[in-house]
Amino acid sequence: MSLLVIGTVAFDAIETPFGKTDKIVGGAASYISLAASYFSKNINLVSVVGDDFSKDFLALLQTQGVNLEGLQIKKGEKSFFWAGKYHNDLNNRDTLDTQLNVLANFNPIVPELYQNCEFLMLGNLMPSLQLNVLAQLKKRPKLIVLDTMNFWMDIALDDLKKVIAQVDVLTINDSEARQLSGEYSLVKAAQKIIAMGPQTLIIKKGEHGALLFNKQEVFFAPALPLEEVFDPTGAGDSFAGGFIGYLAKTKDISADNMKRAIIYGSAMASFTVEKFGTERLIGLTQHDVENRVQQFLDLVQVDITLV
Ligand code: AMP
Repeated sequence: MSLLVIGTVAFDAIETPFGKTDKIVGGAASYISLAASYFSKNINLVSVVGDDFSKDFLALLQTQGVNLEGLQIKKGEKSFFWAGKYHNDLNNRDTLDTQLNVLANFNPIVPELYQNCEFLMLGNLMPSLQLNVLAQLKKRPKLIVLDTMNFWMDIALDDLKKVIAQVDVLTINDSEARQLSGEYSLVKAAQKIIAMGPQTLIIKKGEHGALLFNKQEVFFAPALPLEEVFDPTGAGDSFAGGFIGYLAKTKDISADNMKRAIIYGSAMASFTVEKFGTERLIGLTQHDVENRVQQFLDLVQVDITLV
């Protein structure tokens, strides 16, 4: 089933307790597309880069089945740039720099070929651009998933709330859920956020897993205790890509299938953090993915007979 992805395609500079990179390829849509490409070969990307961006990476996306017709390459302009530094616990980070560059005047255009997509992943991007893309779609996709971050809550909350009102699933981390709702309790936060529009809220808690809330129930997916956690950048996006990619592959958006999808999302995120940037998401096999999912299942498998 076709999946439309929007979000940043960018350069990042990352500092973790284990090392430091200069400019490497990053961006929410890069991670989402790569992670989803292990589930669907019908991925359509809408984004923008400058002509400084890596041609090799774009070619790699194409070989993974990502259609780049909706990717604008701006002559003489610079790609979006983000720099971040992780604290020692790797669960928290500071943004050191955000340079919008090409994003500042980006006018997304959804190509005719992308119309009628059944799944839409609104990756992290200015909420006004997410609204712009939603307005261009002639038919509402079967499922719309939104990922965003505190940066947009700080500077574009009104627009962000308009996007949130139109989506089916929102994925944010625990501190963002608290910021958005004004509630410390994640249960109360979820109730308030679900009342803003989405039927499903996924709260990511880094190495502590992810919670899925809907009106009826709460489901928890652990994160895999990994020997090597190198760089958490893109974990949330890879999670989102695995989540929506699995739903698109299985063509089932029931609450039960979303529980399976968050295990697949968590598996893709667990790969990403093992190396810097997008490196670990390149060249995985189907066997690698299934093996990783099996490790998640083994982690929570237990026999209990209630008396
Ligand atoms: P994550 O670690 O999953 O939250 O995503 C990290 C990616 O998000 C990086 O590769 C950045 O390029 C990208 N990013 C950082 N800040 C923003 C922002 N304000 N808007 C869109 N993308 C961003």
